[in-house]
Amino acid sequence: LIPIGIFVGLLLSAILIFVVRTRMSMPTMIRNGLKGSEFNLLYQPVVDLSSGTMMGVEALIRWRRNGKDFVPPETFIPVAEQAGIISLITARVFRLLAEDAPHILSERPFFHFAVNFSAGDMHRPGVVEEVRRFASQSGIALDNLVIEVTERSLVDVNLAGETMRQMRAAGIRVAIDDFGTGYSSLGYLAQLHVDYLKIDKLFVQALGTDSPTSQVAARIIEIAKDLNLQVIAEGIETKRQERILKGLHVGCAQGYLYGRPMPLDELLQLLRRKGSV
Ligand code: C2E
Ligand code: CA
Ligand code: CA
Ligand code: CA
Repeated sequence: LIPIGIFVGLLLSAILIFVVRTRMSMPTMIRNGLKGSEFNLLYQPVVDLSSGTMMGVEALIRWRRNGKDFVPPETFIPVAEQAGIISLITARVFRLLAEDAPHILSERPFFHFAVNFSAGDMHRPGVVEEVRRFASQSGIALDNLVIEVTERSLVDVNLAGETMRQMRAAGIRVAIDDFGTGYSSLGYLAQLHVDYLKIDKLFVQALGTDSPTSQVAARIIEIAKDLNLQVIAEGIETKRQERILKGLHVGCAQGYLYGRPMPLDELLQLLRRKGSV
């Protein structure tokens, strides 16, 4: 028979552990998840619109908390940014991609790899050196590496712009992501050192509808052309959207029509399938 004092003590500590565990803050859960293997990458094809061939992939991070519940990046990335731990996530993306890239490169030596950067990444001193080190570890040539920066993350345009300049000088490619959804003026664009504009799916999905957004999408594409930037349209789901984008002379496309974000094995199978992409 357990003495009542010990029983109550055990019960109270069990309750305490339960409360602490369930009320653990999200940054703490992210840190814990990074200690294990709760994070992995999915790859989404980026295709050349005129030939239909896959020219590369975008790496998208996934988090399975406690190996069970899936937490969307749109939930935990902003938390990691706020908590000042985005560098830990980016480092994990680099580590995972360095493991996967050699397998992909043995199928497609000139494949492009796009990685998402947050404002915190663009502001971190020495980040260009981090990217260089990652490139040499992964075997990805610097000019096959695309760093995607959202328009929203250009809060400190001068600092982020300087990082972009250094990246371009090193041969790394830079893309402005989710273009058109931020609140910055167009004026800065001409000054920035970028290669690609990624047109947000919001605009792509308005194409061919009578929404005024459709006109905005066409204008954004024209602006990109005027600035000599390559356009990547995101979120293409239908042949009709594809047709309109081809008509607007858009170079590259990404979306469920070509492929959902997929695990490494699935990507490799797709690349090995004869006659495909
Ligand atoms: P994003 O960079 O704009 O990524 C594109 C998102 O659109 C992805 O969502 C992708 O699954 C989704 N998508 C692609 N094609 C289609 C389509 O045809 N239709 C629709 N409805 N959706 C499509 P995901 O993977 O949930 O990522 C959401 C955002 O999380 C990303 O937006 C990016 O901003 C951020 N994110 C993802 N991975 C990372 C990462 O490794 N680091 C950082 N800093 N941010 C990341
Ligand atoms: Ca992106
Ligand atoms: Ca995007
Ligand atoms: Ca997005």
